[in-house]
Amino acid sequence: MELKKPFIIAGPCSAESEEQILSTAQGLAATGKVDVLRAGVWKPRTKPGTFEGAGVDALPWLTKAREVTGLPIATEVANAKHVESAAPYDLDILWIGARTAANPFSMQEVAEALRGTDKPIFVKNPVNGEVDLWCGAVERLAACGVKNIGLIHRGFSGFGAGHLRNAPMWHLALEMRRRMPELPMICDPSHICGCRQYIADIAQQAADLNYDGMMIESHINPDVAWSDAKQQLTPDALNVLLDALKWRAGESNSETFQIALMGLREQIDSLDREILQLLAERMNVAENIGRIKRENDVRILQEARWEDITERALTLSLSLGLSENFLHTLLDAIHIESINRQNEVMKR
Ligand code: PEP
Ligand code: MN
Repeated sequence: MELKKPFIIAGPCSAESEEQILSTAQGLAATGKVDVLRAGVWKPRTKPGTFEGAGVDALPWLTKAREVTGLPIATEVANAKHVESAAPYDLDILWIGARTAANPFSMQEVAEALRGTDKPIFVKNPVNGEVDLWCGAVERLAACGVKNIGLIHRGFSGFGAGHLRNAPMWHLALEMRRRMPELPMICDPSHICGCRQYIADIAQQAADLNYDGMMIESHINPDVAWSDAKQQLTPDALNVLLDALKWRAGESNSETFQIALMGLREQIDSLDREILQLLAERMNVAENIGRIKRENDVRILQEARWEDITERALTLSLSLGLSENFLHTLLDAIHIESINRQNEVMKR
C-alpha cells in the first residue's frame, strides 16, 4: 500500500459526542497536517465500569465530520459485529487494536468479516512482545484477501516501561518491518507514552527510525476526555508538535558528511569485532568454570557471585555513561549464554 509520507492519523481516543467529534475534527483539519480523523467507537478497556465507547451511535458523528472537514475517517474494529455495523457508514480506514491482534480467534473472525476489502486496514502490534503473533494477524488478513494492510507500533504492555505506559521495544517493530518490508508502518506515540509530555520525543524517535507516519490522539478538551485523558493533545498542541517534528532524509550527498560517516563506521566495525572476540573469550572462561564445577560437583548458579558481578558492573557502567537499563539487558544476555555453556559442559 502506497501512502503519502508522513501519513498522519489524529483524533480522540473515543468518540464521546457529535459536538466533541466535530470540534476536534475542525481543529485538526485547520492544521493542514492531518490526513485522517480517528476516533474509537468500541473501546477495549482494561477494566469494566469505564467508558466502553458510544458504539454505532457514534458512526454518524464521524461521517458528519468527514462531510464538514473533508477528512477521511477511521475507527477500531474488534469483532465481526463491529465490521458489519461500520459497513453502512463506509469508513475510509479501519484498524485492529493491540488486544485484538493478540488473540488469534478474534483476528480470524475480523479477517473473515473483512474478506476481500480494499480499504486500508491497519494492525496494531499485539500487547505482548511477540513478533510472530503480529505477523500472524497480518497473515490472517492477507489470507482473507485484504490487500491494503498497514502496521501501527503502539508499544508493548507489561515490560517495565519506566516513565512510559507501554515499552516501545523498538527492535521488535524494526524486526516486524524487516519481515514485512512492503507494509507501511506508523507509530502511535500516544499509547506508548500514556502521558502527553513525552509524545514529541517518542514521535521524533519514530521519525528517525524511518516510520511512515503517526497515529496521535487529539481531543478538543483533553483534560475531560472519557478515556486516555492524560495522553491526548489539543489540535493546537498537535499542530505545534507536528511542526517541530523533523522528517530527516535517509541520505546526504555532502562529501564531508560521507567521509566523516565512513570513518566513524570503520571505528564501529572494529569495536564490534573486539567486543565479539572478548565475549567469545569470556564464554571460554565460563566453560572452564563449568569444567571445574563439574569435577567438584558444584552447581552452576552462585547467586552471591552474580549479585557481586552485577553490582560492580553497574557502578562501572554508570561511571562510563552507560544506562542501567542497557547494562541489565546486556548482562542478562551474557549470563544466560554463560549458563548455557556451563550446562553443555555439565552434560558432557
Ligand atoms: C486506541 O487506539 O485508542 C486503543 C485502544 O489503542 P490500543 O489498541 O493500542 O490499546
Ligand atoms: Mn486511547
